Amino acid sequence: TPLQKRVSGIPKALYGGRHTVTMLPGSGIGPEMMNYVKEVFRYAGVPVDFEDVQMDATAESNEDLEYAITSIRRNGVAIKGNVETGSMRRGVFSRNVALRNELDLYVNVLNCKSYPGVSARQQGIDIVIIRQNTEGEYAMLEHESVDGVVESMKVVTSENSERVARYAFEYAKRAGRRKITTIHKANIMKLSDGLFLETSRKVAKEYPEIEHNDMIIDNCCMQLVSKPHQFDVMVMTNLYGTIVSNVVCGLVGGAGLLSGKNYGDHYAVFEPGTRNTGTSIAGKNIANPIAMLNAAVDMLEHLGHKYHAEIIYDAIEKTINEDRIHTPDLGGQATSIDVVQNIIKHLQQKTRTSNWH
Ligand code: ATP
Repeated sequence: TPLQKRVSGIPKALYGGRHTVTMLPGSGIGPEMMNYVKEVFRYAGVPVDFEDVQMDATAESNEDLEYAITSIRRNGVAIKGNVETGSMRRGVFSRNVALRNELDLYVNVLNCKSYPGVSARQQGIDIVIIRQNTEGEYAMLEHESVDGVVESMKVVTSENSERVARYAFEYAKRAGRRKITTIHKANIMKLSDGLFLETSRKVAKEYPEIEHNDMIIDNCCMQLVSKPHQFDVMVMTNLYGTIVSNVVCGLVGGAGLLSGKNYGDHYAVFEPGTRNTGTSIAGKNIANPIAMLNAAVDMLEHLGHKYHAEIIYDAIEKTINEDRIHTPDLGGQATSIDVVQNIIKHLQQKTRTSNWH
């Protein structure tokens, strides 16, 4: 479909096959995680250059945000840490939400797959969460109509509901997935979630080979904790998406493991799946670098650097599943640097034994 083509559009490589990518380190553990990405890329010989852009949530103006958006528009692709949204002041936007909205990154994709080497609450999970990423409860349209009465608008459009549903079904078709579950609260939010659900059902009719069912968000949370293996691909609005993503990441090993992808028709932004800042663990050499490194692997796949994506992914997998070099969040005692050094060790073995140069 034309949509499919646009979503998978890859920016043109510069002369010599190199790409320039925007790097938004964000706050908390973001900057140290980005240093690990650069270090791993250096050892793997990845042909990617970074344009570092700082976003400052404490700034008085939104200039930093505008600069970041301009940079991503220029490069097409970004890797991102989360920016702390400290300010409750009106007129200062959440950098994270504003960026996704401005770039129209309408879908977020999170593949929650268990690592056999991680002892987690559940094993053998392989769920793909597809989340509407730009509207719903995150429309940022709140106002105090009279003193003590705040109204917050949840915006659901048929256009965006259809784009995300279509993305989910096309994804399922391409990835050989068999079932899609639409998550909603249409029994209470009859118009907004009703539209989202109806749109999913309409799109589902075009894909008879993929099973479609739906589930109410509260039951979904219970089912995820008690019988998570029933889920294959899940599609939902923005707020349910962030909650469900955190539940499933928690089931497979926490905030430090998985990565998430944000796509629109023109741009792509890669980041850790649960979008945490991890401020309390910053600078202590204990944060798990795997989530950000997985985001870097996603980015390389998107850019078409398959070889480099694969060798880094293999090194991550061996480190977590075979060598079991685990940071404290996974129950281990390794430092962030131990994990990165082990990954680099595998990369060095690989690049030494191949004739790649
Ligand atoms: P803080 O930012 O002060 O840690 P928070 O409540 O904002 O507190 P989040 O950033 O939302 O925490 O992260 C949620 C939890 O996940 C925290 O306990 C955090 O330490 C942990 N966490 C997040 N990222 C990682 C990581 N990469 N490695 C290990 N733990 C992580």
